[in-house]
Amino acid sequence: MQEHDEPGGGSPDIGSRRLASLKQFQPASRSIWARVDESDWNDWRWQLKHRIATLDQLEALLPALTPSEREGTRLASRKLSLAITPYFSGLIDPADPDCPIRCQVVPRLPENDRSPWEMADPCGEEGQSPVPGLVHRYPDRVLLLATDRCAAYCRFCTRSRLVSNAAGYDFHPALDRQIDYVRRHPEVRDVLVSGGDPLLLSDDKLDGLLGELRAIPHVELLRIGTRMPIFLPARITPELCARLRRHHPLFISVHANHPRELSLEARQALGRLADAGIPLGSQTVLLRHVNDHPAVMRALMHKLLACRVRPYYLYQCDLIAGSAHFRTSVRRGLEIMDSLRGHTTGYAVPRYVIDAPGGGGKVPIHPPYILSHNADRVVFRNHEGRVFEYPETPDDPAGDRRLSITPPLSPARSRWEES
Ligand SMILES: *Cc1c(COP(=O)(O)O)cnc(C)c1O
Repeated sequence: MQEHDEPGGGSPDIGSRRLASLKQFQPASRSIWARVDESDWNDWRWQLKHRIATLDQLEALLPALTPSEREGTRLASRKLSLAITPYFSGLIDPADPDCPIRCQVVPRLPENDRSPWEMADPCGEEGQSPVPGLVHRYPDRVLLLATDRCAAYCRFCTRSRLVSNAAGYDFHPALDRQIDYVRRHPEVRDVLVSGGDPLLLSDDKLDGLLGELRAIPHVELLRIGTRMPIFLPARITPELCARLRRHHPLFISVHANHPRELSLEARQALGRLADAGIPLGSQTVLLRHVNDHPAVMRALMHKLLACRVRPYYLYQCDLIAGSAHFRTSVRRGLEIMDSLRGHTTGYAVPRYVIDAPGGGGKVPIHPPYILSHNADRVVFRNHEGRVFEYPETPDDPAGDRRLSITPPLSPARSRWEES
């Protein structure tokens, strides 16, 4: 296992800095909010109202702002707004300019660079939206964007073209039209509600949206994608959980990128969701100097599992404009996956995917285990690199006929077909 702690290529300096971020970290005393009442601090509406959203507020929080951060923040209002909840800002280590929490939410100058290959809409969502705010890419499920706002803004946001509206996209979800599309498309059995962060909607509005979707007979599964337990755990109130549990089966995917994000508050918020019977999965973006190290990734996956969150996806960072300083090689991602599979609990191993540029969907990118495969045998390696073989079994040409499939599976209808 030792060899996995610093796979070839990483300089020990960067490696040890990444590892240092794992050390027990005492969140800063509430610094500029030292005099805030506990009840305000724990009130999610207070937290939203007091977000760090200007350069002056950021300088008050982090007096040692770097020139790149200062200039990046000046330009953010035209690209992707600056917003950090007071709670999340408390996880920043003010003494560490490379703090893995800080660099996710504090703008830096390279955000304004555009590298070759980078795009405003890297996953090609615009071309697959039959109705504004609804992406229908896969045969049996859709992505429904319920808002363009989040509690805080990730500087590598894949939907920065529309999220926060800094770039003037002017996105307005048309929930009636979005729901109506689902209603008219019986092949849609799974609706993923995302955004923006849908948990920023009021309890009533979210309850209403989920209720309307749940009332559609062919919708089997509802899902929410959110970063709220991480950015604003106080939003996960008992009342919200009571509303959510009315819409089962409802799954939630939580976006988490660094073990330090799983603070006591975040762990309690996730516990409330899990206690409401909501199966929890995680989505993590592979980010340079944040989590691109086997030990950091392993710690994150272990912490998520301890919060009853099953690691779901590890994303290669999308080719969003201005994200080159966040991206890590695919080779590095594969090394990290190799360091997990077989070396730790299978439940702690996410699927590493690239969301294919241009709109091909999420494609698993796994380290190669199969060394050769022909009609006689498959030769493969295990996590230690030892080689094994397994004899290949001839297919039974009549095989499918023996499966009794009732009712017969009908081919999914063409996704654009109007019913
Ligand atoms: C990610 C995504 C989904 C859900 O994909 P799963 O692999 O089922 O989690 C659905 N639609 C779109 C457009 C997506 O990007």
